[in-house]
Amino acid sequence: MTELWISLQDIPAEGREFHFTDQSLWTGPMEEFRVAAKPGREFNASMLIVPQDDGYLVSGEFSGSVLLPCGRCTEEFELPVQGEFDSFEEPARAGETLEDETRLRMHAGQPEFDAAGFLWEQYLLALPENPVCDEGCKGLCPSCGINRNQGSCACARDEGDPRLAVLRNLKLS
Ligand SMILES: [Zn+2]
Ligand SMILES: [Zn+2]
Repeated sequence: MTELWISLQDIPAEGREFHFTDQSLWTGPMEEFRVAAKPGREFNASMLIVPQDDGYLVSGEFSGSVLLPCGRCTEEFELPVQGEFDSFEEPARAGETLEDETRLRMHAGQPEFDAAGFLWEQYLLALPENPVCDEGCKGLCPSCGINRNQGSCACARDEGDPRLAVLRNLKLS
């Protein structure tokens, strides 16, 4: 995973804005964690870090897109991935490790923020659970496998409301 630690040492009280355009911040973990998606439109992010008494406010937004197969019809499509964030990051308390929900560390006596880990987390949060090419995607026919967005098949009429199927069976008997 691409590492990108931002030094928080000299950030002025009014904060500082950071911009991220290095694609490996997104494509690196996509490969590492075998996410079934290819990079689409370039990702970029902006992040404002404002020091507080007991931590840092981290806010900003990111956007880009990925190419991946539709969950219904399996056709590859472009999925925009974007989000906003507004987070308060606290230093680890005594006895906590980095895995315990903090993205701050002390390095050579200076506080640093795990920007790469944070942006990857935001990316994962922005992904829909079951991405589809279109809300109205008709998917594949379970019988013959035809993509029903592109055509219809003879088996189509046997589907539909299972309660009606019960009625049809009644008529037959
Ligand atoms: Zn689809
Ligand atoms: Zn069919």
